[in-house]
Amino acid sequence: MPDTEETLSRLAGIPHLTISTGTPLSRYTRFGIGGPADVYAETDSVESFVAALEVARSSGLNYVVIGDGTNLIVSDAGFRGIVLRFKAQRILEAGMRVMADAGASLQNLVDFTIGRGLKGIETMTGIPGSVGAAIYGNAGAYGHSISERLIEVRFFDGRQVRLLSNEECEFHYRESIFKRHKDWIIFSAELLFEPADAAQLRKTADDILKLRNEKYPVTMKCAGSIFKNLLLAELPETVARQVPAQVTREGKVPSAYFLEQVGAKGMRLGDIHVAAYHANLIYNAGQGTAQDLAALIQELKARVRERFGIELEEEVQYVGFATPVSTAPEIGVR
Ligand SMILES: Cc1cc2nc3c(=O)[nH]c(=O)nc-3n(C[C@H](O)[C@H](O)[C@H](O)COP(=O)(O)OP(=O)(O)OC[C@H]3O[C@@H](n4cnc5c(N)ncnc54)[C@H](O)[C@@H]3O)c2cc1C
Repeated sequence: MPDTEETLSRLAGIPHLTISTGTPLSRYTRFGIGGPADVYAETDSVESFVAALEVARSSGLNYVVIGDGTNLIVSDAGFRGIVLRFKAQRILEAGMRVMADAGASLQNLVDFTIGRGLKGIETMTGIPGSVGAAIYGNAGAYGHSISERLIEVRFFDGRQVRLLSNEECEFHYRESIFKRHKDWIIFSAELLFEPADAAQLRKTADDILKLRNEKYPVTMKCAGSIFKNLLLAELPETVARQVPAQVTREGKVPSAYFLEQVGAKGMRLGDIHVAAYHANLIYNAGQGTAQDLAALIQELKARVRERFGIELEEEVQYVGFATPVSTAPEIGVR
């Protein structure tokens, strides 16, 4: 039987680790949804993080690592166990190379590189969240993803801190080896850029940010796209044939296309709404709950499965759900 009190006292003995109990995770998610974590612990020290991880693992309690919470759906019941966050935020440059800590905000990294005339991630302006999670999910936008610039990633594999080369990270569209090894924790990464005119990079980024802010207002409680887009080449031929050519971009069919066909736009469940202008964007309009959010997602998946025989896959990550989220109750479409 895990002993939370004993675990707490062991965590309290770790230097540079900030600990709290009963911490509402709604504070740490962009959806503004999520019940309390039994224990929440954060640090910007690699050694302290590894020590906390070892305490968590040996305690028998569940644990989860979060970044800035912009891609998380945390259950209304919260998380029974320990939530860990690595907060180091250094960004250092050496010529065309840049080292960034996993806790740095991706936007700070984008702005840092633009300011120094380093080309490569300027189209990723406006993607919220941390560098660590961007690597975990191979974040990207406007035809580019972070993996294109990564040289190596420094991480903890449960036994030791080591390095993986870009190739060893097995990056694909919104995928990396880290998604398949949830116990591997990214601490930092090295990226390589090309020289370019800083003013031109700034303009590219500003133009993109303007568009993004129209689609995702900065105060919107959401996770960006709920579902991953689909690779045209991987769709069953009967489905691929139904997709109009102009819908496909860079070999991907937006999941919004399928969602639109099943009437997703404007659907609502309580305070959880699908945007009227974007079928793959779900937001919390006020007092939304994780239960309604998960149910609406399941309903959308069921509709697409029934109509097209394909399975949409969430880009968002669930935290604190006992089982994969079940079938949706009735959803009012307005
Ligand atoms: C308005 C909006 C727009 C968005 N637009 C885009 C977009 O254009 N492109 C895109 O790719 N994404 C987009 N996203 C999704 C989100 O920004 C990214 O997934 C981001 O990388 C998540 O970062 P985070 O720090 O908030 O991670 P979190 O949401 O906290 O965590 C996400 C996952 O990363 C894991 N993780 C976090 N830190 C680490 C670490 N150090 N080591 C290992 N695993 C870790 C967590 O365990 C979790 O599974 C958008 C989100 C929002 C809200």
